[in-house]
Amino acid sequence: MSLDRLDENCKFYKHLTHLFYCKWLHPGTSAKIKSIYIKKNCKDPRHHIRFHGTQRACYEGSSGDKWKPCSNNKCYTCSILRNGFSISKSDPSSMFGPAIYSTIVSSKANLYAKNHNIASRKHAIIICGVSLGRCACVSRPGDYSAFDTVEATTTNQGGSVNYPETVSYRQRNVVPLGVIIYTRKGWTP
Ligand SMILES: [Zn+2]
Repeated sequence: MSLDRLDENCKFYKHLTHLFYCKWLHPGTSAKIKSIYIKKNCKDPRHHIRFHGTQRACYEGSSGDKWKPCSNNKCYTCSILRNGFSISKSDPSSMFGPAIYSTIVSSKANLYAKNHNIASRKHAIIICGVSLGRCACVSRPGDYSAFDTVEATTTNQGGSVNYPETVSYRQRNVVPLGVIIYTRKGWTP
């Protein structure tokens, strides 16, 4: 299984870069997309695009037209690309319980994008395709697993998170579609 680098002139590339930049919201920080890699035949019009940041421990995506997920078990990015998301790997103490957490806010996903034991100025976040199913907007922390998905509302809207968050209780509803590779500025670890 490998991912292909998206042509910068294609519609999907433009759509993803537009989302990424529009939803980079953390003040005093910025990012620049270097490349986008996408799985073959993964697009589904029912999907809502979200981002998920996690640990990366390889140099896939540094150059070239292919991303071949590595088998290093410290590389959660490649593991998710290969095997999909797993609720069993989520932190049960998270605000909305065991679930797959993603966000439309690229700069929030960026907070979780960590390079593990690699020296790279580039970072990676996973592009997710989310089917919402039975969905609710919630303002308070809790376990809402009777729903397929909840959207956590922000403190501005009377909710409990600073930036919107999508919480999926059915792991089959979240599909890793690809990866965005970018550099970032103004961000201190
Ligand atoms: Zn990897």
